[in-house]
Amino acid sequence: MAESAPTRLIDPCNRHLNYLRVSITDRCNLRCMYCLPQESLPRLSHDDILRYEEVLRIVRVAVGLGITKVRVTGGEPLVRNGVYEFLLQLSVVPGLIDISLTTNGVLLKDNLHRLQAAGIARLNISIDTLQPERYRAITGTDVFDRVWDGIRAAEALGFHPIKLNAVALKGVNDDELVDLARLSFEHPYHVRFIEFMPIGKSRWAGRPPLLVPEIQERLRVLGELTPVPRSEHDGPAQRFRFKGARGEIGFIPAISRHFCDRCNRLRLTASGQLRPCLLSDLQEDLRGPLRRGCEDAELAEIFLRTTRHKPSEHSLAGGEPAHTCCQMRSIGG
Ligand code: SAM
Repeated sequence: MAESAPTRLIDPCNRHLNYLRVSITDRCNLRCMYCLPQESLPRLSHDDILRYEEVLRIVRVAVGLGITKVRVTGGEPLVRNGVYEFLLQLSVVPGLIDISLTTNGVLLKDNLHRLQAAGIARLNISIDTLQPERYRAITGTDVFDRVWDGIRAAEALGFHPIKLNAVALKGVNDDELVDLARLSFEHPYHVRFIEFMPIGKSRWAGRPPLLVPEIQERLRVLGELTPVPRSEHDGPAQRFRFKGARGEIGFIPAISRHFCDRCNRLRLTASGQLRPCLLSDLQEDLRGPLRRGCEDAELAEIFLRTTRHKPSEHSLAGGEPAHTCCQMRSIGG
């Protein structure tokens, strides 16, 4: 594997941006209560969505500037046609050392071999409950068993790490936090608890938050959580382990203890907008210049400009409401 470029993506707060999250679609096969409102929202047209070759070109430019980690997300990435061929092409981009996928797991079980063949070993799977009926209530679809079978099959095939993401929702799944965390004893899973973020419109907006300190308090019954040393490519999760556990516990305290000071991310939306912060509507258009036939140098300049404009912290950290007009499904979470 070729050596990665030293990063030129250093923002005014001296944060080294080496991680690009790439949303390849705004389509999803679930309608999670914390992600979408009741009413249906307009979707991007086929033409608005970046073609795979456009995404790959942008990634190559980003890698030339020092991006070494890419996470493919959505919407639900596995619903997009051609995704496995795309992942394969992504996995051979010289200089990328970490490629992972975030999925709701609905289409996982039957496609694990294709993911493996495409060079994906690291999976984040969203699962907010272990109860099938509750899963249906949260996501609008009765597919808990299918998702759980996919997770078990991924474990059997040696995918590692398998990170299970649960958005903590007061009055919905807070009585299951311990059960979810207990999975880390029986399986090598990294169970991660995410605070709800008020992004775009959703059926959960305005509800009382369930924050990480309270989650940690509830998990005390399982023993003491020992911190796991951070590594270079760690995202915002605070990592811990219970004594004797095979897996880990992670917390993503987006609101209660924001992690902006060590944010190393840029986000590419499905429509080709480059965003320096999940919780801000600042964005730079890459699709327009790309389709007008620009040189790579112009794309690189857009990356550098976006980096220069990365907010020092998100507005929620200062107690203000989020001003994102975009939905999570088009930014990619
Ligand atoms: N469809 C894929 C999935 O379900 O994992 C990828 C896209 S989804 C937008 C990425 C992650 O964002 C999921 O773990 C989901 O639970 C999380 N998410 C969505 N809306 C959220 C919100 N308002 N607050 C916190 N996390 C959210």
